[in-house]
Amino acid sequence: MHELSIAENIVSLVAEQAERSGFSRVRVIRLELGAFSSVEEQALRFCFGAAAQGSAAEEAELDVVVVPGEAWCLDCNQVVQLAERLAPCPHCGGGQLQVTGGQELRVRELEVD
Ligand SMILES: [Zn+2]
Repeated sequence: MHELSIAENIVSLVAEQAERSGFSRVRVIRLELGAFSSVEEQALRFCFGAAAQGSAAEEAELDVVVVPGEAWCLDCNQVVQLAERLAPCPHCGGGQLQVTGGQELRVRELEVD
């Protein structure tokens, strides 16, 4: 499953940070989840619970911040925000859009003990 490998990546990233910075427990993991990242938040939470067992992230809460999708509209010549990848431009209704943001999933910060 796609979400499981993402969850495992997050757990190993947290473990590396814990070793480097000398903390043993993480309270909150704040994630930025792009609206176009094709990651199911619920599935990610479920997989994270399993992947984090026995690690520094075991008791951590996932705080997911959804980042809106962004695209460049060739008709308006500007960056517009999109709720869905295939949505038309909210300004001109055009469909000539190149996605420029909202595909990322990254750990923004950790709150640690
Ligand atoms: Zn437009």
